[in-house]
Amino acid sequence: MTSGELEFVDSNLDVEVDLPRSVEEMLLPHVYVGLEIDLLSPGDGIVTDRHHASADRYEADDPMNQIEGQISPFTLSGWLRHGCERVVQIAGATACHPGEPNADYMRANVYERDLESGYHEKGECLDEHDDGCVVYDLFGGFGSQPGKLLRRPVSFSPIRRQVDVLDGEAEAHFRQISNQVRSRNEEDGGQPLRQADRDVLGNVEGTWKLTLRELKPEFVGLLLEAVSFLDAHADEFAFQVGGARNFGAGIADVWVINPLYSEREVRRVFNRAQDSTAAMAEKDEVWRSECRPEFVRALQARTAARDGNLPMPSSNEGGESA
Ligand SMILES: [Zn+2]
Repeated sequence: MTSGELEFVDSNLDVEVDLPRSVEEMLLPHVYVGLEIDLLSPGDGIVTDRHHASADRYEADDPMNQIEGQISPFTLSGWLRHGCERVVQIAGATACHPGEPNADYMRANVYERDLESGYHEKGECLDEHDDGCVVYDLFGGFGSQPGKLLRRPVSFSPIRRQVDVLDGEAEAHFRQISNQVRSRNEEDGGQPLRQADRDVLGNVEGTWKLTLRELKPEFVGLLLEAVSFLDAHADEFAFQVGGARNFGAGIADVWVINPLYSEREVRRVFNRAQDSTAAMAEKDEVWRSECRPEFVRALQARTAARDGNLPMPSSNEGGESA
């Protein structure tokens, strides 16, 4: 998609999205999610640029380790999707179940229980509307519905000057942590029983770059609301990201970087030597008071029209801002 043909896709909702700035003046179709995570332990591991299992060059406790790599997009995607589901449920509608009804779940009746608590069967929403519900539309589902949101891995480096936040990169410090689990039995004199290893990242700071392949205003509204929700509930077990949650891992301070910013201004957000400018503050105010509520209103309209029996938003006054 080139910027020349960039425009919003109309979902034939009964609301007019009235924005004071054109799409060309926004970072769209990219949505940059700012990330600050003190400790992250992605459940499905970290892809690093080094085969340290066999390399004698890697010393787990060497502070000079300069290992780069990627944070899995699967971990991040599941976390974001969970936030999107909650936003739709809080609005009074049901969310698309992320899994197939006949999948091999590890607990009995889990699908049935979910269907009674805020979910509808995956893809059931296609019966009434070609696009399905907004969660299905955005994340995709069965073969013919690939989803509209590109969720890249976050590349990380411990060296800040090698981090390009416009590419969805973060500064982060990789460590392989080994724990000696020691015997509690007095006779054993505190001997180690076993060793537990895990990959972690410390001090993650940067961006996750999302790209909308189809630019529906309600998608932007859903991402804005989901990221706000995840930030507000960051230390709840269900909304931490990755593993080791009882150890404080995966508590993520997250926000959508103002889409009105220029690329230079996005870089400035992560430049410790520079404060934000008056122009950025003005854009923050325009975004907060005039743009964000419009995208949220589009989400409300979509939810009302297709996903539930909810009242249509009426005026431009609705929608909370954050
Ligand atoms: Zn659905």
